[in-house]
Amino acid sequence: MPRPARIGVLTSGGDAPGMNAAIRAVVRSALSEGIRVFGVERGFQGLIQGALVELTSRSVADIIHRGGTILRSARSEEFKTPEGLAKALGVLKRLSIDGLIVLGGDGSFRGARDLVHAGVPVVAIPATIDNDIACTDQAIGFDTAVNTVVGAINKIRDTATSHERIIVVEVMGREAGYIALHAGLAGGAESILIPEVPADLDEVCARISFAFRVGKAHSIVVVAEGVGTDAWADRDGPKSAAMYVGNYIMEKTGLETRITILGHLQRGGTPTALDQIVASRLGHAAVGLLAAGQGGRVVTMVKGEVRTFDIDEALAMRKSIDPEMYRLAHVLSSI
Ligand code: ATP
Repeated sequence: MPRPARIGVLTSGGDAPGMNAAIRAVVRSALSEGIRVFGVERGFQGLIQGALVELTSRSVADIIHRGGTILRSARSEEFKTPEGLAKALGVLKRLSIDGLIVLGGDGSFRGARDLVHAGVPVVAIPATIDNDIACTDQAIGFDTAVNTVVGAINKIRDTATSHERIIVVEVMGREAGYIALHAGLAGGAESILIPEVPADLDEVCARISFAFRVGKAHSIVVVAEGVGTDAWADRDGPKSAAMYVGNYIMEKTGLETRITILGHLQRGGTPTALDQIVASRLGHAAVGLLAAGQGGRVVTMVKGEVRTFDIDEALAMRKSIDPEMYRLAHVLSSI
């Protein structure tokens, strides 16, 4: 593929802290290579609608530390249709955009792949707080989300100890338990419930009773929002995983239990230094690939190094949680 003269950049799916740092890196790296950059507003929907604006070095000033995405993000059902894809291809052709960088999660990668199969040189960058993309150790936004949750657990711990209570904390993760596992381990949770491991609520109750018997002043249970969605689908009563778990614990143990659902505060905020660094490195690497005439790839972080994968291979890979980490969290809170 020839070297592009004009490239686009878009953010898609759920926003993730660090997306702005990546946009800044893309724009400044491209400009330093003599490539013009166009920001696509509102993800694939904006691409269909031709909502593109040229970005200069000044357009991305003062955003490296901002959460969210200056390009806005959106979900687009229309893009998944052949007509939607054709419209997007028409816009790229009309504006002579000959390369595209897509920031997002698994779904956004599928959209990027469709463009690649239609002949567009696209490089995808993993950016999702869920961290559920198999080919990378770390997606942009994950470290910030984990730090946000750990900060919340640390605060909750103070009040849990003062009142000798059980606190159930619900965190994001419909299908993946990475935030719950990492934040639960870092935050010293007594139990961590994740979608990847079948939930045994009687065991959770036994651990809580044991903890109080050996003199612990509180118990923190971290629950990913997707836990029990299949097994508890027909249940009566609360639909939130944390409420279900909290009610169960209260009924079984008779101990005072409180519930905190962290919700969208996990998405926002200033990215951590790590996310700002990863975003800068991946944004730069993505431009490097397009400048070298290479599309159809994903740029990732593996063991602290930038690695690239073919986008079809990346989408075929499956990620699983680290069982050692899960066991460690269990052991450290068991005695
Ligand atoms: P997050 O992990 O934060 O939810 P995501 O990128 O997985 O991010 P999705 O809503 O799954 O978020 O996908 C974002 C957009 O990507 C969709 O709205 C759609 O436009 C496009 N997309 C998703 N799945 C596909 C698919 N199978 N084919 C083509 N495009 C897709």
